[in-house]
Amino acid sequence: MHCPFCHTQETKVIDSRLVGEGFQVRRRRHCQICQERFTTFETAELVIPHIVKRDSTRVPFDEDKLRRSFLKALEKRPVSADDIEIEINKILSVLRGTGEREVSSEFVGGLVMDALKVLDKVAYIRFASVYLSFENIQEFTDEIEKIKNSN
Ligand SMILES: [Zn+2]
Repeated sequence: MHCPFCHTQETKVIDSRLVGEGFQVRRRRHCQICQERFTTFETAELVIPHIVKRDSTRVPFDEDKLRRSFLKALEKRPVSADDIEIEINKILSVLRGTGEREVSSEFVGGLVMDALKVLDKVAYIRFASVYLSFENIQEFTDEIEKIKNSN
C-alpha cells in the first residue's frame, strides 16, 4: 500500500487487529521512507449486485420492489409478514454472498420462486404464472405437476 504522505510503496504493517465485532481489520502502517504512520481499515464489500434485466439494461437492486413482488403473490394468503421478511433477508444475503457486481433478473426471479415455493404453493403458482409467462396451458400444468411431485 502506498504511503499517503510521500507516496512510496515501501510501507509496512506494524499492527493488525480485528475491530467492529470482528467485521473489520484495522492495520497500523509505517512508512519506511518518511517515517509517517497511518491506519487502514479493511471490510468485506457487502454490496448488493446490480440487476441485469432481460433487455440487458442494468438497474440498482430495489428491495422495495422485491417486497412488493412477495406481497402481491401472497395477497390474502395465510403467510405472516415476519415469514416474508425472513425470506427477503435470505435473498439479500444470497445476493451479497455472490460477490458479483451484477446478476441477472432471472437469477433473482429464481430466488423469489424458491422462497415462495417454501412459503405458499398458491403464491408460488401466482408468481410463476406471471414471471415465467407460460406459453400455454400445458407448461402451466407441467409446473403444477412438478410442485405436486416435490411434496
Ligand atoms: Zn511516506
